Amino acid sequence: MDIFTLLFLIIVLAGSFIVYHFYLKEKSSELDTIRRGFCPRCHQKDTIEITDERSSGCCSPKQVTFECVECKYTNNFSIESGCRL
Ligand SMILES: [Zn+2]
Repeated sequence: MDIFTLLFLIIVLAGSFIVYHFYLKEKSSELDTIRRGFCPRCHQKDTIEITDERSSGCCSPKQVTFECVECKYTNNFSIESGCRL
């Protein structure tokens, strides 16, 4: 492997890491908005409903799907449920 291939790989890896980081940041800010009772898209209050909720175990994060009844915004979040022992 020459130095240019290596540099290219580093740039691609760093790029995808940054994109992933911003994706997670956006997700967590959307979840924050939903937890305060607002829709992240149309900013209406109390329009968000939980349409699906599943967990693979008591200590693993829950997969929760939210939907807005106003603008049909829908998103899926994994939420730490914590251990209830
Ligand atoms: Zn909405």
